Parts: sequence; structure tokens; C-alpha cells
Amino acid sequence: MSWEFETDPEYQEKLDWAKNLVEQEIYPLETLDLDYDTFVEAARPLQEQVREKGLWAAHLPPELGGGGYGQVKLGLLHEIVGRSPLAPVVFGNNAPDSGNAELIAVATEQTGRTDQRERWLHPLLEGRLRSGFSMTEPGTAGSDPTLLETSAVRDGDVWVINGHKWFTTNGSIADFLIVMAVTDPSAGPYDRCSMIVVPADAPGVNIVRDVPTMEHPHISEGNFWGHTEIVYENVRVPAGNLLGNEGSGFRLAQARLGPGRIHHAMRWLGQAQRAFDMMCERAVSRRSHGSLLSEKQMIQAFVADSLAEMTAARLLTLYAAWKMDQEGPVTARVEIGMIKYYGAAVLYNVIDRAIQVHGGLGFSSDMPLERMYRAARSARIYDGADEVHKASVAKRVLRAYKAAEVPTEYIPKRREAAKQKFADLLSEATADD
Ligand SMILES: Cc1cc2nc3c(=O)[nH]c(=O)nc-3n(C[C@H](O)[C@H](O)[C@H](O)COP(=O)(O)OP(=O)(O)OC[C@H]3O[C@@H](n4cnc5c(N)ncnc54)[C@H](O)[C@@H]3O)c2cc1C
Repeated sequence: MSWEFETDPEYQEKLDWAKNLVEQEIYPLETLDLDYDTFVEAARPLQEQVREKGLWAAHLPPELGGGGYGQVKLGLLHEIVGRSPLAPVVFGNNAPDSGNAELIAVATEQTGRTDQRERWLHPLLEGRLRSGFSMTEPGTAGSDPTLLETSAVRDGDVWVINGHKWFTTNGSIADFLIVMAVTDPSAGPYDRCSMIVVPADAPGVNIVRDVPTMEHPHISEGNFWGHTEIVYENVRVPAGNLLGNEGSGFRLAQARLGPGRIHHAMRWLGQAQRAFDMMCERAVSRRSHGSLLSEKQMIQAFVADSLAEMTAARLLTLYAAWKMDQEGPVTARVEIGMIKYYGAAVLYNVIDRAIQVHGGLGFSSDMPLERMYRAARSARIYDGADEVHKASVAKRVLRAYKAAEVPTEYIPKRREAAKQKFADLLSEATADD
């Protein structure tokens, strides 16, 4: 029996080192609004340090240069990395490249296509190529990918792709795009789609725009973290660009999203903790109506509720990670679903309270909170809207229950059964009277 909440000292030392790097070296870069190329130049020596510490792209299997740490340890690292939106680039796990690298790793493991590793995976891991994941379409509900319409039709040795996508993160700066397309319309709903690698400069890849969002309302074209609208018009790519087996698109997407959600949830916690620290510091610093904010019960409730919610989200996420390590992603589906919607709500609530405690300062761009708040709103939508995860968790849980004409706990029925079970005892008690 083991039931522990401890990190081994050797790994804790790595985590402490990572936290120090994020706070001392990466936080200052946030304030400079560097363009991506200048930021990458500033990040390069830090990336070297991360490599030397054995924490670079730690989510990957050891044969690809990862740490082989397992999801619990990775989760603890992501909690630290999540404190700064820039840190994932320094630690080699920025979206969508990290998820796409995992995807190619899983797909090539299934097919043995080492040529695809050479061509796309290794350059991606070394930061020589950038990628996008092109699945969501403006015309169909992203929540129900069985509705996808983008098609890939085989014409001799090539796939011909036609479709309209949007929200392809980094699509306008990517070197290649992983496109989810229907390759067999007559197959079952979860066997219709495949993933195909499309070089971004292939004729017919039409970048329409980076969609302005709450996070980047004034984004100009071709920026890092842009969410790109793309029309694929008779794009022809070699048949060998298929990832995994034909029809395996959904299974590959699941393999990509499971661990990714744990990393997201832990990164959200790192951000929530940063907002929490700002809230507490302000509460003990600002006076109003004769006392510090920290002495007002309503502000104390903000602090107490936030801490309880963050602790609950943290334990839930680490439990999901532990379950994944023990039994694999399939058995941890309910836990992974829960952390998605619970973690997103905690992030949003804590940042919201931190803004409130700062008053006008919190609403201003003089603090990082307003940016964090705008970014946090999307956590309830991407990687599956909260409602879809809630419905899926509830459906799985409800499967274990059977309908009962009379509720199992109906007291009159239970009382009758108890009277029979304890008849001797009851008759003795009556006799004693
Ligand atoms: C910041 C960000 C980054 C993204 N990055 C990428 C990317 O790199 N690649 C990519 O392909 N996509 C990406 N997306 C798209 C994202 O995956 C989709 O937005 C998401 O899957 C929801 O799909 P949708 O927008 O079509 O909403 P819809 O499916 O139209 O859903 C709209 C709303 O309907 C409700 N709803 C839907 N289904 C149900 C249901 N079954 N029960 C109850 N309510 C329901 C929910 O409230 C949901 O929010 C990104 C999105 C964001 C915001």
C-alpha cells in the first residue's frame, strides 16, 4: 500500500531549479513585448540550460530525448512552466508543436515510418520547423468532429485535399500543417478521417487570415500564437504524407489529447497560483475604510475559496496523472474530462477575483492579470468545450447505474427489509419493554 503526496528529493531539486529559471529569467522577458524571432534569440541560452538539466521536451519518450518521467512528474513540471506564457518555448513543450510531435511519435510507432520522424519529428523537436494542427472548421461544429467535411481523395500517388479550416494555431507561420480530413466517407463515424501532413507552401494552401480573438484582438498577420483561417483548395500531397493508418484520425487525436489535457490543467494551475499570489500581496498591502483589504471578510472569502478550489483542482489533476501512469489514458477518461472543465473554471475564477482585489489596477494593462483573464476564457472552449466534457463524464458515470422502479434508498421499503433482518433483536427489545 502506498498513498503519498511527496516528490522525491532529486526531482524536487529539478522543480525548484525550473521555478527559479521561470521567475528570474522568463518573467522579465514578458514585459518587453518582443517579436517572436527576438524572443527565440533571448530564449536560446535558457533552452540550453533546460537541456542540460534534462527537462527539455520532457513529455516525449526517452528515445526521442524526453525524460520518461511519467504523467505525475510531468504534471508538476507543467505547473511551474504554466506560470509564464513564454516558458513552454524555453522548455520545448509549446503548443501546438509539442502535441504535434507526440502525434507524429505515436503515428510512426504504429507504422514504423522512420522517414516521417526524420523529415518532420526531429526538426520539430530541434525547433527547426514549426507546425499547426488543422482540424476545426468554421462550417461544422468542432465539438462533433464526426461532422468534419474537409476531404482527402486519393488520385494515384497523391492525396487531393479540399476544405475550409480555422483556429489552426500558428497556421500562418507553420512550415507544415497536420490536416484532419475525411478519407472514407462511407466508413463508420470514427473511421472516416485520417491525418495528413501538408507542407504550408504547397500550392492551394490559402492562408486567409489570423482570426482576431479575445486574447489577441489586434493581431497582425503571421504572428506566433495566431489562430489561422485556411482554405485548402485542390492541395496535392504525396500519399506517403498520411500519418498513421488510413482511417485512424480519431484514434490519433485521442492519443494526442489525453496527456495534453493533464499538461494544460497543470499549466492553468501555475497561472492560477500566480494570480493568487498577486491577489494576496495586494490584499495585505491596500487599505480601505480603516483596515487592510486582507482584514475584510469578503476578501478573505476570495482567498479561502481560491485556495480550496486550486487545491482541489491540483489533487484531481495529479490523481488523473497518477491513474494514467498506472492504467493508461483509456481508463482515466473520466478523470481527464473532469480536470478539463473543473480546472478551466478554477483558472478563470481565481484570475477574476485577483482582478477584483486590484480594482482599477487589475483591469489595467499595468498588471498581467487582464491579459491572463482574456487568455483564460478560451480554456473553456479549446480541446473540447466544457459542456461536451461534462456530458461525456456524466454518460460514463451513469453507465454504472441501473434503473430502479422504487429507489434503492426508499426508506419505507428499507424499513420493512430491516424489520425482517433484525426480527429477533426487535422482538427481544419489545419483550424487554
Ligand atoms: C485559443 C484556441 C485555440 C485553438 N486551437 C486549435 C487548433 O490548433 N487546431 C484546431 O483544429 N482547432 C483549434 N481550436 C478550435 C477548438 O478546438 C474549437 O473551438 C472547439 O473544439 C469547439 O468547436 P467550435 O468552436 O466549432 O464550437 P461548437 O462545436 O460550435 O460549439 C459551440 C458551443 O456549443 C455548445 N455545445 C456543443 N456541443 C455540445 C454538446 N454536445 N452538449 C452541450 N453543449 C454543446 C458548447 O457550449 C460549445 O461551446 C482552438 C480554439 C481556441 C479558442
